[in-house]
Amino acid sequence: MLVELWCESSSRTSRAVAARKGAAVRVCEAAPGAPLQPAPRLSDLRPGSLICWPVNLRQAAHKRAVARFIKDLCKAASAKHAPKTKARIHSNRTPNIRKLALLTSPECKEWSAGNIVNRKRRCPLQIYAGRSATIEDIRFARQCHRQLRISLKEHNSLSIHEQPLLARMPKRFANVMSYEDTEWPWTVFRENGLPGVNSTYAARVNGCAVGMVHIDKPVCKPWKIEVRHGTLLKAVLASFRCPANHEHDRIVGGTRAKQSALYPAKLAAAFADEVCA
Ligand SMILES: [Zn+2]
Repeated sequence: MLVELWCESSSRTSRAVAARKGAAVRVCEAAPGAPLQPAPRLSDLRPGSLICWPVNLRQAAHKRAVARFIKDLCKAASAKHAPKTKARIHSNRTPNIRKLALLTSPECKEWSAGNIVNRKRRCPLQIYAGRSATIEDIRFARQCHRQLRISLKEHNSLSIHEQPLLARMPKRFANVMSYEDTEWPWTVFRENGLPGVNSTYAARVNGCAVGMVHIDKPVCKPWKIEVRHGTLLKAVLASFRCPANHEHDRIVGGTRAKQSALYPAKLAAAFADEVCA
């Protein structure tokens, strides 16, 4: 069972999970100002189902609904392994969640190279606004992953957080914005500024190693992927590095950057294999 946050409405990862007879929920972006849709019912999460839930994750009420949904899923997943209690009996009506996986990939354009250039030109007003919204996204991602950590065990949970490597935090400048290191996206699994427990790891993955091409030329889009649990996935991700024996095409803005937001099939399959393992 996979829940994807900040997901493209055509996400390959969810589709791959559904194809492997897992259930997948895409929490994708709702139209601005759209009313909150009810959360998918747990009884609808059958093997092979793929549900799209449009949500505006920049709105508090929507966020609360997502947090509640994840909490309910955690309950259902932990009830399956609990001894026969009321919760167990209740869980007969809810689906068999053997493993709950959460994949978060908040939008990061406020942190991207282009914005760093703007920052250097000192026109940071809209960047300030975007930046704090992004920090809120990161906080929310962390909150959701924490829910999995506290309610589930290694064998029934999987946390994945992805950010493009190029959305990099600038070095601390003496004159402007001291970025709070603990809020930096890569550290989504760090809590209270402490490094995560040893079940977490971060992998760097290159687009060209997972078959990302643009007009027959490999694209080296690098991602940083943080994972908690999932030993299988760890080994696979480690092999997704650019062999550095070819030329790359560059990704520059517009539709190409948009396309590259969709994971290549090979990466999506690696995620889905671990989710359904
Ligand atoms: Zn390469």
